[in-house]
Amino acid sequence: MQTTNPNDPRLTSWVTVPPGSDFPIQNLPFGIFRTRYLTPVACVAIGDHVLDLVCMQENGFLDGLGLPPGIFNQPTLNPFLAMGRRKIREVRERISVLLRADNEELRDNATAREIGLIPMREVQMLMPVKVPNYTDFYSSLEHASNVGALFRDPQNPLLPNWRHMPVAYHGRASSIVVSGTPVIRPRGQLKSKDDPSPRFGPTEKLDFELEIAAVVCGNSTQGQPVPVEKAEECIAGMLLFNDWSARDIQQWEYVPLGPFLGKNFASTLSPWIVTLDALEPFRTEGPEQNPPVLPYLQTTGGCNFDIVLEVYLQPDGGEETLICRSNSRYLYWNLRQQIAHHTINGCNLEVGDLLASGTISGPDPESFGSLLELTYNGKRPLKLPDNRTRTFIENGDTIIMRGYAERNGVRIGFGECKGRIQPAIL
Ligand code: MN
Repeated sequence: MQTTNPNDPRLTSWVTVPPGSDFPIQNLPFGIFRTRYLTPVACVAIGDHVLDLVCMQENGFLDGLGLPPGIFNQPTLNPFLAMGRRKIREVRERISVLLRADNEELRDNATAREIGLIPMREVQMLMPVKVPNYTDFYSSLEHASNVGALFRDPQNPLLPNWRHMPVAYHGRASSIVVSGTPVIRPRGQLKSKDDPSPRFGPTEKLDFELEIAAVVCGNSTQGQPVPVEKAEECIAGMLLFNDWSARDIQQWEYVPLGPFLGKNFASTLSPWIVTLDALEPFRTEGPEQNPPVLPYLQTTGGCNFDIVLEVYLQPDGGEETLICRSNSRYLYWNLRQQIAHHTINGCNLEVGDLLASGTISGPDPESFGSLLELTYNGKRPLKLPDNRTRTFIENGDTIIMRGYAERNGVRIGFGECKGRIQPAIL
């Protein structure tokens, strides 16, 4: 085949890719894995396998790309990401060539193939990046409106600044964990409206937040804003993000300085960095912004991505039930605007920084991205199979997020973002 475009839907790989796989040759996301025998190293996903990038580099398959020795023999992708967007693109393009059905270099090298391709069931995926800073935006109009209506004014749910800037706060990086890590129910101060004083105990309103996170691949310079039209050059790709929330702790503590212990006990990240390059065919226009935004936030063209986002709840010993289906295309504020706004005051970005979208809700009740919204703050329980119901998350529940962009028979999937809730430590 003549194409050199790694996103070409006609491309196939000599590695078997099962139907419905998240990881066809058009995806090739980056991650960090380990096996029983190997220390953590970088890899790319293809079908039901990971491709060991250390093995690829050491056997000369990545020669000519200007990669320093050992760049993939690291416990995080940060050193590779620091090489920048163009280098990440070149490596993905080279891996695409190596895995193409009509390329014999790796396909016909039995030794390298057997060492370099490892079944996913034999590996453990780890945190793909060391996160120096985590910023949580609030970029979904539907989510901000739903929360404003629940807690403030149903007639006028948005605060006056919301349509003028992508509102955000600085989150906590230390407690971000990779998919599969158990999460312990947090304890804290709880106070309902009618209680005269707070009590202390495990949260009774544990929630998830369906988000997508972008990972930064270049340092920016303090004092120098990143212009909106160059903003995507400092983003390697996207991951799924569950920003767990304790609504009762949050509601009592947040005045006047905002989110703290109701948010910073844990956030769960999916293991695969799906590159912006792989998502290029899924660009779409975002919602119309009204009133018009200030010049430093103005963008044109397809700045949103059409990514289906799903949340499943699995009770202890029960089956998975789909409880939310949303889409990142609903986001009012796009990634370019988030970055332009984040840096407009001179704040610098660092390699590995996570910029999370904020809960992504859509217009329909089935697309609400948190239990707070899905159950109207616990007033309308969700019905699950086996006559179970849920208002908020119970001990033993597992929350599983999945995401994928799909067109022309190509599915660019994100893998899973999964966490099980363990009882509070008493
Ligand atoms: Mn959040």
